[in-house]
Amino acid sequence: MRYISTRGQAPALNFEDVLLAGLASDGGLYVPENLPRFTVEEIASWADLPYYELAFRVMRPFVAGCIEDADFKAILKDTYGVFEHSAVAPLRQLDGNEWVMELFHGPTLAFKDFALQLLGRLLDHFLTKRNERVVIMGATSGDTGSAAIEGCRRCENVDIFILHPHQRVSEVQRRQMTSALSDNIHNIAIEGNFDDCQEMVKASFADQSFLKGTRLVAVNSINWARIMAQIVYYFHAAIQLGGPQRSIAFSVPTGNFGDIFAGYLARNMGLPINQLIVATNRNDILHRFMSGNRYNKDELHPTLSPSMDIMVSSNFERLLFDMHGRDGAKVAELMDSFRATGEMSVAEERWTETRKLFDSLAVDDEQTCATIAQVYQETGELLDPHTAIGVHAARECRRSLATPMVTLGTAHPVKFPEAVQKAVPSASPVLPAHMADLFGREERCTVLANDLAAVQDFVSQHGNRGKPL
Ligand SMILES: *Cc1c(COP(=O)(O)O)cnc(C)c1O
Repeated sequence: MRYISTRGQAPALNFEDVLLAGLASDGGLYVPENLPRFTVEEIASWADLPYYELAFRVMRPFVAGCIEDADFKAILKDTYGVFEHSAVAPLRQLDGNEWVMELFHGPTLAFKDFALQLLGRLLDHFLTKRNERVVIMGATSGDTGSAAIEGCRRCENVDIFILHPHQRVSEVQRRQMTSALSDNIHNIAIEGNFDDCQEMVKASFADQSFLKGTRLVAVNSINWARIMAQIVYYFHAAIQLGGPQRSIAFSVPTGNFGDIFAGYLARNMGLPINQLIVATNRNDILHRFMSGNRYNKDELHPTLSPSMDIMVSSNFERLLFDMHGRDGAKVAELMDSFRATGEMSVAEERWTETRKLFDSLAVDDEQTCATIAQVYQETGELLDPHTAIGVHAARECRRSLATPMVTLGTAHPVKFPEAVQKAVPSASPVLPAHMADLFGREERCTVLANDLAAVQDFVSQHGNRGKPL
């Protein structure tokens, strides 16, 4: 399988190089040159497979030529074996034909584990083969950092540096990151905000001389391998609910458009998905596009669902590429004009075509809490605020009661106690048994000033399993 850039200029790469590349050299994002397509009979034959076997069948074409079948299957078995629920992604019924797919049974209790547990293992596989070490740098406001750290903690060939804003992440999120004590894990608390952290990571990718030749790798949501891993659970849900002979709809709590883009790909690979709902919080640039063909930058609004607090949606470019018949020059033109003016629209007929599959809703904090309370009353289930946004949008935007509606349950409620307690004062979500000792675990973290030189010096002094590069 080869991968091409959404802006049409960068060289095509194979899977291994895409995994290590991050952004394409022309500023675009990598997508598969040709999407595999499965027949109804083929998908139906997967009905009784365990999750990792299903994952193997769905993802195999994407890694073809880069990794042996037996190695890939062993990696997948190991990856999904660490999930606490034996079904890996269990479905919980809320109402007639309405479900939540629980994607929070991984090590850090959010769906990002599905991709980052795999990413860490794939990196280690390829780097061992190449006899190469890399440094990962990332900025986090919470979920991504802990999932990336957990994904890399056993990697022999990776040192990971995660920057978070000092005293501005929740205690559960901080402890999930700082209690990972391997000598290749480096937590840096920056005396600044999330944007300061992100700017320092960006600047480090732009000028990597402080790394003395060591390769810098990105694990943010534009990494193709993350999207790939997320395609699998759409197949998993559909097969559980009578697919592929029966159609299905999904509602997806959305920020950077990575998770829902995976659903879009699943559909193009042969899964009969007839509706995808983009559920956003007040940071609703995607809802503005889907409802009014206007993709325009607004300021950031902090909400009770912080993992969806974004101003622009980095994976949206991948959909734009398909919307325009995979014309990279056209995408480059649109993105240039977006950068210059802060807004863009697409031709009316392309937007109308897109809307045949996608609906959207923006859900504010008040509605989020009301949904948590309502679902708790109806079913006794406590939803996290991101999932609640998905459930609210599912109920508002649903096209057909006869089609199973699945909301992606993106995080465990214990990660976001503020919203949950606001909604249901009597409830206090508890940590799952395997994390019950989280508040007693030793923590390790370095606090640094909001100063790029200090951060880069720290990385170069510790980037080789805690020793200097
Ligand atoms: C990252 C995240 C999202 C948003 O996912 P995208 O792929 O960025 O759209 C939603 N919910 C939770 C809990 C997350 O951590």
